[in-house]
Amino acid sequence: MSDSKYADTASLNPKTTSYEFFGPLGAFSITIGVPILTYILYFTCNNDTSGGCPPPIQTLYPSLLQALADPAFWWKLWDPEAFALYYSWYTFCLLAWAVLPGDWVRGTQLRNGKYQQYKINAFSTCLLALGLSTGYILRFGVESFTFFYDHWVGFVSAALSMSLFQGILWRKLLALGGNSGNLIYDFYIGRELNPTVGFLDIKSFNELRPGMILWLLIDISMACTQATRLSGQITDSMVLVLFFQGLYILDALYNEPAVLTTMDIISDGFGFMLAVGDLLWARYLVFRPKVLGYAWSAAILAVNFLGYYIFRTSNNEKNEFRNGRNPKNLTYITTEQGSKLLTSGWWAVSRHPNYFGDLLMALAWSLPTGFDTPITYFYVVYFAVLLIHRQRRDDENCEKKYVECHSVSPTNILINALPYRYGKDWHRYQRLVPYRIIPYIY
Ligand code: NDP
Repeated sequence: MSDSKYADTASLNPKTTSYEFFGPLGAFSITIGVPILTYILYFTCNNDTSGGCPPPIQTLYPSLLQALADPAFWWKLWDPEAFALYYSWYTFCLLAWAVLPGDWVRGTQLRNGKYQQYKINAFSTCLLALGLSTGYILRFGVESFTFFYDHWVGFVSAALSMSLFQGILWRKLLALGGNSGNLIYDFYIGRELNPTVGFLDIKSFNELRPGMILWLLIDISMACTQATRLSGQITDSMVLVLFFQGLYILDALYNEPAVLTTMDIISDGFGFMLAVGDLLWARYLVFRPKVLGYAWSAAILAVNFLGYYIFRTSNNEKNEFRNGRNPKNLTYITTEQGSKLLTSGWWAVSRHPNYFGDLLMALAWSLPTGFDTPITYFYVVYFAVLLIHRQRRDDENCEKKYVECHSVSPTNILINALPYRYGKDWHRYQRLVPYRIIPYIY
């Protein structure tokens, strides 16, 4: 690649002309709505909420108004101890990234012809954090590790402050969708594609480390809180949740290089949208312990393992393929762009089989809470909406990438001028693989 081809920053960072998420108003609403929703989930379903989870609206509404008028409520949001621990945790992750050994892996090619380098040591960072936490629990007892439960809302505020801070605008190689010129929209969607400090790629760092590993420590803290309340016992439902989410987290960290071929890393900028997803989302079984029994536990295990199998094998198929390997001899079509699209294996079942597997696992994480409240199914519904929206965004991006002709040959100019871009690659692929996520359903 010659440098002159990329010298023109205006063509390298074209203006974003179409909005996603309903534009600036949608981006503003999500930026305000996500934190409010997270606080509402805490305040409507906790140890003190009597009469159901959530309580009926006629009791919830007056108690919420009363709480909002009480200064103690607002002080609860700002918890210096939780902030100190959260920011120390973030620093620990940064130090572990710098100090622990790890291979350097090259990402996919960027629009400026260059490659971003990524240090692979998220799994060892997690093992170090788990080792230190286990040592702490063994030394000081389970009751010493209930901090996350006790200071939950303060942690939410601390993670939120970090997400807002991380939404700071960067200006080098911009994400194609994050250069609209509207400050609120660009802050939300993410302006810079690969913000980097020194050798540290900020986006992939946030994608797997401070949020994901903390999620596992929070789960362990919830189990410790339950054990403190139940005289050293934890219920089978808590074991299942801990096991499922632990497996998901350790799997993601162990397969760290696979994140480099995901949409977040390849095409999305790093703004509030990714930061809040990576750092904020992550307690019900502590105050509503549930015993499941063998049969119910086995059924939930089966749902989780089916989901995990689909999720892992499909992601592996695509990741191997994108890295130039095809051990299963899967069939594919070659696009005009030169890039290849798989048309057999999991990628013939639907255009996002990995989302289907992920959704089954999300369902298995909620099932151990039983059916006493819809609140604990919030995650499945939220995740389904997220993935359907994501699939639509990805389909649109792929359509642009694999339908429009980019090389300026006379034939391509002619084809692009045609009213129907008949036979172009993404449409050809859509005809071969008609289902989006769940075969025969969607
Ligand atoms: P995908 O892993 O499906 O990646 C989409 C990209 O893959 C496309 O843009 C295209 O990129 C390439 N692609 C599409 N079809 C094919 C094909 N047939 N053959 C080869 N390549 C193809 O999506 P995501 O990056 O969104 O998700 C990655 C994983 O992360 C998923 O398992 C998802 O469930 C999970 N996830 C989890 C979240 C959570 O909060 N827990 C949130 C979001 C995602 P190109 O052609 O340019 O290579």
